[in-house]
Amino acid sequence: MPRFSPLTPALLDEIRAAVGGSAVLTTAADLDAASADATTERRRPEAVVRPASAEQVSALLRLANARRFPVTPRGTGTGLAGGALAFHGGVVLDLSAMDELTVEPANLLAVAGPGVLTHTLRSEAEKHGLFYPPDPASLKDSTLGGNAATNAGGPACVKYGVTKNYVLGLTAVLPTGEIVTCGTRTRKGVVGYDLTQLLVGSEGTLGVITTLFLKLIPLPRAVRTQVAVFPSLDKAVAGVAAIMAGGCCPSACEFLDPRCLALVGDLLPFGDLPRDASLLLLETDGSEQAADADMALVSEVCKKSGALHLLPATGPAERETLWNVRRQVSLRIHDAWPVYVPEDVVLPLAEIAGFVAELPRYEKKFGFTVYAFGHAGDGNIHLNITAPDRSTLDRVEAGTIALLKRVLELGGTMSGEHGIGFTKQRFLGLELSPASRCAQTAIKKALDPNGILNPGKLFDEDPA
Ligand SMILES: Cc1cc2nc3c(=O)[nH]c(=O)nc-3n(C[C@H](O)[C@H](O)[C@H](O)COP(=O)(O)OP(=O)(O)OC[C@H]3O[C@@H](n4cnc5c(N)ncnc54)[C@H](O)[C@@H]3O)c2cc1C
Repeated sequence: MPRFSPLTPALLDEIRAAVGGSAVLTTAADLDAASADATTERRRPEAVVRPASAEQVSALLRLANARRFPVTPRGTGTGLAGGALAFHGGVVLDLSAMDELTVEPANLLAVAGPGVLTHTLRSEAEKHGLFYPPDPASLKDSTLGGNAATNAGGPACVKYGVTKNYVLGLTAVLPTGEIVTCGTRTRKGVVGYDLTQLLVGSEGTLGVITTLFLKLIPLPRAVRTQVAVFPSLDKAVAGVAAIMAGGCCPSACEFLDPRCLALVGDLLPFGDLPRDASLLLLETDGSEQAADADMALVSEVCKKSGALHLLPATGPAERETLWNVRRQVSLRIHDAWPVYVPEDVVLPLAEIAGFVAELPRYEKKFGFTVYAFGHAGDGNIHLNITAPDRSTLDRVEAGTIALLKRVLELGGTMSGEHGIGFTKQRFLGLELSPASRCAQTAIKKALDPNGILNPGKLFDEDPA
């Protein structure tokens, strides 16, 4: 018997009756728009529902349980793990219209709908002298709901922590349709199990987030930005470990390997770089004095680690240019290669240099090309594994597994922020013990007995 019911015209009418006709979209353009994310996977849903309230989400999920159709939550589809794609068809639940935002400066709090874009919250908070640090490189397009569902990180997280550190509480619709508010609007709270943090990072498999209570902090008064150019990749990553152990915490410590530089070097605001150069994008922040003192310390460590040039940003415009260059990297890799596997491993800081030095050996053995960049200060290395054509997919897969196993041997983890979704699900057994998977599958079953919410992702391994 098929696991799910197709959305027949009669069932679509029931959905319209439950959530209101105008929230249900079925044109080819609507379905196409919900068929892609930032992976190369594509899956077309049978309908898109765009709710304006938690009550509509609840009505949809109750009906999905009664009639057994799948529902896949979606923000804006910038995810890199296939999490927002409807691998089993059914409904894509597009939360982008739930974009109400209130900043409460006196409470250092933001109350946000899941569809608010990350950069919108950051700029609204800034107007009140406040700061929302989580800054995924996709921040102009990604939603806060998607960020919470994936526990997104970003450059500032090396100093300020990731999304989960800013989610004080939330309202979610559980897969069976109950609306729950968990956590608090206050800065502390310990009542009951921490359902908030269970839902954060659950990749849309345990509940649909409909409101977020987010912690804000005072906006640092000053930021200093600098690029450090190293003669080689190994010197740059050795520099990262030295910076992080050097007595101050930068507010960003990103790296780009020579291949990434070859792809985006034309966008940099200074002249040509040496051929094998690698780059660190560094920031410090705080008071004017603290930002300067910390950047002086970082510069000293960079010089001792063999930096060829230290190039401070001349002002806010050049700072923005440098960050735009950094944000272009994955897009340009994606556009340049037909086979593109975005892994985002994390290593203990002391192991990064050794691991990166081993990459050419894997490239030679498995015939792929790796672009390495990312949040080096966190040990979070984006390994973009690429190949010229799909005939090499078997070798790419074997090489990816070999690389992930090596990361785990070195004490790392296979994903720092992009999540498991669909694309990394088959690798879960490399990292999680059977007992851990069993416990986590039991949580999924307890909350979603009919498996209607985001099937085919994370701990639901039923083949699509
Ligand atoms: C150029 C680029 C750079 C990126 N840089 C970073 C980075 O620096 N750091 C980082 O962490 N990620 C990064 N990403 C990945 C991606 O942007 C993040 O995972 C982001 O959090 C996804 O947000 P979204 O709104 O696009 O979510 P979607 O892609 O739409 O969905 C992602 C997952 O969240 C679930 N979901 C979405 N909304 C909800 C909700 N309201 N309730 C429950 N579940 C929900 C979906 O089901 C899916 O599983 C990058 C992506 C790109 C394309």
